[in-house]
Amino acid sequence: MSNIRYSEIFLSPQGEGYYTGRLTAWIRLFGCNLQCEGFGQKDPTDPSTYILPYKDFDITKANVKTIKDLPVWDYGCDSSYSWSKKYRDLCPNEHFSKVCDRIVGLLTTQYNPYGLFVNDRNTIHLAFTGGEPLLRKNQESIILILDEFYRRDNFPPMVTIETNGTQDLTIELIDTIQKYFQSSEDYHSYYYEEHEEKPGIEWFWSVSPKLWTVSGEKPEKAIKPEVVHHYKLINNRGQLKFVVRNDPRTWDELEEVVQYFKEHTIDWDVYIMPVGATVESQVSPEIREIAEETIRRGYYIAPRVQAYLFGNEIGT
Ligand code: SF4
Repeated sequence: MSNIRYSEIFLSPQGEGYYTGRLTAWIRLFGCNLQCEGFGQKDPTDPSTYILPYKDFDITKANVKTIKDLPVWDYGCDSSYSWSKKYRDLCPNEHFSKVCDRIVGLLTTQYNPYGLFVNDRNTIHLAFTGGEPLLRKNQESIILILDEFYRRDNFPPMVTIETNGTQDLTIELIDTIQKYFQSSEDYHSYYYEEHEEKPGIEWFWSVSPKLWTVSGEKPEKAIKPEVVHHYKLINNRGQLKFVVRNDPRTWDELEEVVQYFKEHTIDWDVYIMPVGATVESQVSPEIREIAEETIRRGYYIAPRVQAYLFGNEIGT
């Protein structure tokens, strides 16, 4: 299949974690193996108390024509439109070449007339997000897009995969990473020494495992350090990013999970992202408490910069 189902393509600075501020072309691929309905709920561990506006929302009454017309929800997964069957028909299903054209269209400006990832301004990153971009079907889409950009001689040298860290890699994606990107060992020497010519400089795993006391997802399903260990073996550049609420149960769970990842050799930087996708939630008193606790525990903080910059809008 050469078509790709996605919910959004947009150009925006990376808003979370290590590459915050870097100009990035995003593609949000459709489908997810989790639901994370506990986000923003009073008690994420008790599904009987959940409020889920994405389920109640009436598309026809609200006259929704595209994903951009949807509100940003405070409860449940803030990207539910990217996996829920209810919103599937709002998500384009297009040939990979058309998808690449759209990305190039976003990159094209008077300062970058050919829409190049590498141009005479700053290099533009490409990020695959979701939903879950490492579902098997989505891994195929990633390969189609990278191969197409290679053929067009417009290869994105910096690629980030934003994943929940539960999906095994296909042999085909492993081959693609090895074909186009520097290995982790080469990475440091890339700028300073002789290196094998490959168009990709960096492949970056941004892994966001979902905590039970925040997302409502059971650890057996959501916490898979053995899977992430495999990502690390393929390319050892990444970060762990945890959505956190200021609840003692969550901080305890976080410490346990971080330790569990360390036991599987995942020693990447740990970022704490305060729960809440709206700008209101990102300026609430709770965010300061989370920031203070994050500092006390020696982790990095990842507030959602896109919410501060662009408010409650999808596609930012
Ligand atoms: S893993 Fe991400 S996209 Fe999937 S349900 Fe959870 S928050 Fe939403």
